[in-house]
Amino acid sequence: MIYLVQPPLVQLNAPYPSIYYLRSFLEKNGYSCIVSDHSIALFERIFCRQGTETLFADARRAFGKTPGAAAENPYARYNIERFLSESEQWTAVIDRLVNFLRGKDREFAHLLTQANGVIPGGPRYDSCLEAADGQPGPDSAPVLASRLLADLADFITVALDPSFSLVRYAEHLSASVRDFSQVTAGLDSYILNTFYRPFLQEEWRNLEKKLPGGEGQFLLGATIPFPGCLAGALVCAESAKEYFGDRVCTAAGGGYVNTELRSLEEDRFFDYFDYLCFDRGYGSLRAVLDRRAAGGDTDKPLYKTMYRPHGHRSIVRDQAIENSACEKPREEPSESYAEADRDSVKTIFPDYTGIDFSRYIYPVDDANPMHRLWSDGHWLKAYLAHGCYWHACAFCDVQLDYIRGYSPADPEALFAHLKDQAEKTGVRGVHLVDEAAPAASLVRLAELNRAAGLPLEFWGNIRFEKAFTPDTAALLAAGGLIGVSAGIEVASEQGFKRIGKGITLREVVRACAAFKEAGILTHAYLIYGYWDEQEEEIIDSAETMRQLFSQGLLDSAFWHKFVLTRHSRIYAEWKRGRHGDLAVTGDSAAPGEPKLFANNDLRFEGEEQYDKFTAPLDALLSAWMNGDTETPVDRAFPFKVPAPSVPADTVTELLDAYARDRDQERAEFPADGGQRLIFLGSSPMMRPSRGGARLFWRWRLADHEVTVTADRAAALKLLLEKVSRNPSDDPQGFMQELREIIGAAALPELWNTLRNGGLALY
Ligand code: SF4
Repeated sequence: MIYLVQPPLVQLNAPYPSIYYLRSFLEKNGYSCIVSDHSIALFERIFCRQGTETLFADARRAFGKTPGAAAENPYARYNIERFLSESEQWTAVIDRLVNFLRGKDREFAHLLTQANGVIPGGPRYDSCLEAADGQPGPDSAPVLASRLLADLADFITVALDPSFSLVRYAEHLSASVRDFSQVTAGLDSYILNTFYRPFLQEEWRNLEKKLPGGEGQFLLGATIPFPGCLAGALVCAESAKEYFGDRVCTAAGGGYVNTELRSLEEDRFFDYFDYLCFDRGYGSLRAVLDRRAAGGDTDKPLYKTMYRPHGHRSIVRDQAIENSACEKPREEPSESYAEADRDSVKTIFPDYTGIDFSRYIYPVDDANPMHRLWSDGHWLKAYLAHGCYWHACAFCDVQLDYIRGYSPADPEALFAHLKDQAEKTGVRGVHLVDEAAPAASLVRLAELNRAAGLPLEFWGNIRFEKAFTPDTAALLAAGGLIGVSAGIEVASEQGFKRIGKGITLREVVRACAAFKEAGILTHAYLIYGYWDEQEEEIIDSAETMRQLFSQGLLDSAFWHKFVLTRHSRIYAEWKRGRHGDLAVTGDSAAPGEPKLFANNDLRFEGEEQYDKFTAPLDALLSAWMNGDTETPVDRAFPFKVPAPSVPADTVTELLDAYARDRDQERAEFPADGGQRLIFLGSSPMMRPSRGGARLFWRWRLADHEVTVTADRAAALKLLLEKVSRNPSDDPQGFMQELREIIGAAALPELWNTLRNGGLALY
């Protein structure tokens, strides 16, 4: 038996997909699995009547005894006292608040938006009320409820446990922390001790009843996707070992393991987890299970696995994890494990069957419609491809399998699976968690979804590139695509080149314009503080972004400060002697330093010079997203910056060129071969008209029509219906039929009407 766990804390709106992928894989291989999301379970433990009673009683005691830093900070002191004073209101209301955020108890919206002091509050709630002049309408209730929950989480952080936040735990103790002692010291904390460890004891008692004869052995597999799950994962493994002793074997994998722990030297980590599984995890996990089934604890390397043999202090690592020397040759049939990794992308899809989605909440962190997608939905999460087909951007982890090991899933099989999952779970939205979903797979997914009558809607990460034409975007929208996010990074031609983004500003504008015309939300990721970036480039990038927002081409964006990582192309090139100006610091452990634990993020000289840009760039984004795109960008900086060198009409000109090209392309007849054609308008309706018949349909909220003879209208209606549900691979044949219906002379005008009324060529 295998117990798969998502340790706390990750996002609370939907199950994180890893353990559901693993469950599918393991069950296909004949293992029985139990999946358990400790993230949502811990949330439920804390944010309920009993949980808040405990919180307030403990906070009252702690504050009375040692007010600590809070006593010196009047603002913190006031807020703690405010929460303690309103503690009864909090405990009275918390269950309703959480249920409301789950999409239940709609009546609570009216109580919540009375704003008369019956409901307790906090600083975030106050500012939301203030923005509504103290009179929010019931439609504001989801935002108010989300703010209230965040206020209570802040109270926990300030009064009881500084490591706590709603969607991560002790992240500062885990990201690229070289000394494992810092992490273990953080495990003795309020939330983990008061809520998580007692939950685990109950979980183990229940689990024990499910073990064969109550005493069988089992494997606990934990996924650690982010640093904010590491503390929870360690406590989970420690508690399971204390409870079950030799009956449990523990293994961990996931994004954090893949990026941060590849060079792990700290053998104390294996007091918690017996095995670390790398990359896709399927092959490694199977190698672990085979080893256990064979009853052997040897000291031979296991496929993409790290472990510490029983009674040893040294770690055995497979050479495939890193290019470090492999201590001993593998004994396993490693090709079959590699095959499991390779084939999994084609055959393994996440199985959410039996998961109670009603436990998850819909927090509304932001009114921005694109931002809301991240949290305001119970999405089924899946990917169209493992890895990124581009895998060339200089800052990205392109040395690692999760980026470099590109392998697309079969869109047909994935669609059939997701449709089935939607029927079983009642969740119809899909979040494609790709690094950059391939355009061809997205198109196929949209075709299938549209042909099946739109059982799904979906959104996810892409690359802004030329494959996203106006017609492709139109088909994607008609097939259920609602939003895309993609990296622009440094919005300048020079920046694209240096980063190796492989796109041009023209392509970005064209892709964004196509998505916006199709009514698809767009989000851009940006980077500032790239290691050799000049101030001029940051300002030019900001100016280009201002113009993109000003033209309505983006709905939202986010600026990340550049982080140099060990698995990036830049670092690999630096190691080979390139980038003489880049001075990486602390690349290897100094003598006397503790054994290495996590080490993905690297420092470099001069990186702090970019810190001053953080607040002004965030302020600019906020202004643009709220509609102020006219203020010159340099005014946002409280220090002297160069004026942008980007002409103020750069994006407008590219947009004009886009419109010209689009209109010209629509006027052209299909080229020979290689294109598909589909009619995306509504079902054409025929009505007698003077001298013939009027054929009428709707597309993109507008009316479209042609008036021809009754016979021609009937034939045209049939032809459009034929290419409406399913695309045609023979646009030339379609043209021929059209020509026969209307005649060669009238063809260009009819073609123009159809192309501007939903007939797409892609
Ligand atoms: S940044 Fe995005 S597009 Fe570039 S290599 Fe990484 S995943 Fe691919």
